[in-house]
Order: sequence, then structure tokens, then C-alpha cells
Amino acid sequence: MKETVVIIGGGIAAIEAAKQLLALGYAPLLVERSNSLGGHVAQWHRLFPDMTPAQDLVKGMISSISQAEICLGTEVASLNRLKDGYSVVLSNGRNVVCRAVLIATGFDLFDARKKEEYGYGIYNQVMTNSDLERWFNTGNDPRVRNPRSIGFVHCVGSRDLKAGNSQCSKVCCVTAIKQAIEMKERFPAAQIYCFYMDLRLFGKKYEDFYINAQKDFDIHFIRGRVSQVDETIDGGVIVKAEDTLSGKPLKVSLDLLVLMSGMVCNSGSAGIARMIRADVDTDGFLRSKDNIYGIVESDRPGIFFAGACTGTKTVPETISEARAAALSIHNYLKG
Ligand code: SF4
Repeated sequence: MKETVVIIGGGIAAIEAAKQLLALGYAPLLVERSNSLGGHVAQWHRLFPDMTPAQDLVKGMISSISQAEICLGTEVASLNRLKDGYSVVLSNGRNVVCRAVLIATGFDLFDARKKEEYGYGIYNQVMTNSDLERWFNTGNDPRVRNPRSIGFVHCVGSRDLKAGNSQCSKVCCVTAIKQAIEMKERFPAAQIYCFYMDLRLFGKKYEDFYINAQKDFDIHFIRGRVSQVDETIDGGVIVKAEDTLSGKPLKVSLDLLVLMSGMVCNSGSAGIARMIRADVDTDGFLRSKDNIYGIVESDRPGIFFAGACTGTKTVPETISEARAAALSIHNYLKG
């Protein structure tokens, strides 16, 4: 009989690890608290830098794990150490005993309501990056009404000690550029502005993407932190910022403002950390054994990590980690 490996989570890290574990001869059991697989990526429209439809990626990945057992709408009620493994009790009452558990619980997006000065949930024409992706997918959001001017605010809830998150979320600079391009394609006459502190574009082809955004799509990049957003009498918003390159204060009237909410540790990861009495990092994410050589390992025998439960990750990083985690589990189980 094939040995069971419990995977907690149902996003792309969990799916990719399950695929690799199947190939290595194990019986992965995915435990996902929502009612669908694919996590945040499944909610996205297109992925940078190639503008790949997110659904193509997610559907292809899901089809590769048809042999895995998947429990949707299910949470881990308890996770207890045994002499040689773990007892994983699920919210449906089932008790699974296994020697290795992979935690792939992902992340949450920062709740933009906590940054009141940006007006999310207060002013009609303010939305978040995930709201905009939903609109790309459904075309259904009353805030998007043929905008003639659109602003993107970078670093919302990231690199922000007051928001309790000092980390860079790594993906939101390039996501803002991607979304700005997608908006320009739909509304060619719109003026589009990105308000940034620094542009962090480290991934393959990200720099090309940024150059094209300026050259081919006429997107304006303004280096300066937005200090205040107010609603205008015609229902738009006015953004106050300081252009730190010119040293001048700015006021820009916009029909739509998009907040780039960053990645934060989610409650699922925090709950699992309490169950296994694992340490969390200063940023709230789960703490790997080390951050260079042991990123997919924990300091608990038989407990492994993959993806954004240990920190902010790109999609390619997440997939690579999932593969590494599957191999580490295999090596651990083979002694
Ligand atoms: S990736 Fe860009 S927008 Fe996101 S936190 Fe880092 S610097 Fe800010």
C-alpha cells in the first residue's frame, strides 16, 4: 500500500507537491478548507510576465493530480506528534496517521481597510488588486465605469511597520504593472499612474515588462508615497502625494484608485503553527529550519513547508519549493 502524506492547503504549492509525491509513489491527501483548489492564483486573471491566463495554469495543474485524494471544505482540527509520525484529525472527524505532513497554507492579502487614509471601504472608487482581478474575470463591478484616469498605489500593508508588516511582498510592483497594462488595453484613452516607493522588479523579464509599460502603454510612474485620498464631488478621488524625484507635492484626480494589498501570513498557518508549537518569524510567517538551505524544512521531524506559508513568494518560486518539498519528504521517508 502506498504511504500517505498529508498536505494541508489546496493552492498551487499543495497541488504541485501532490503531483510530485504521486510520481514518487506516495498517496498524497490534500486537506483544503475552502471548496475549491488553486488558492489565490485561481482568482487571478492573467499572470506576469507572459500574460498567461491563470486558469490555464491552475486547470492544468489540477488535472495532474486526479489520483490524489482531496478533501475540500475540510480543516485540520488537531495535529499531534506520535512516536513515529503524526495524527492529523480533520474537521469531518477522520483521523489520518502519517509520517510526514506538508504545510502549504499560503497567505492572505492585507486587509486594505486597515489603511484608512486610502479610503478603501469608505470611498466608492477605491478598490484592491484582488477586486480588480475579479473584475477582469467577471466584468462585474460598479466601480469600473469607463475610467479616464486610474491610479495604482504600491506597498499597501507591506514595508509598513504601522501596518505590522515590514516585509516587501515581492509581487505587487509587477502585479501593478500587469494590471495597469490590462486596464490600458481595455481603456486606451485612460491616463494611468503608479505611485511607488521603490520598484522591486527582480524576476525574469520583469524589467522588460516595466519598460514596455512605459514605452508601449504610456503608463506613468511617480516615485512618492500617497499621503491622503479624498472623495471628490463628482464621485472620483483626489490623491495627494509627494513626487520625491522632483521634490514637489502632487494632487491627482482619478476616476479609479487601485490599492496593491500585500501578502500577509494567514490564520490557517498561524493555527497550524500553534498545533505543532512551531515558531513563527517576526513577520508572522512560519519559520523554516533556515532561510538558505532548509527553506522547505521545519525544525519538527516530518513537518515540511512549501510556498507562501513561510514568506512572500512568486508563482515560480512557489512551484519550485513544492517540488523541493516533495523530494525532501521522499528523502526523509526513505531515511
Ligand atoms: S513588490 Fe513593490 S509594491 Fe510590493 S511591497 Fe515590494 S516594493 Fe512594495
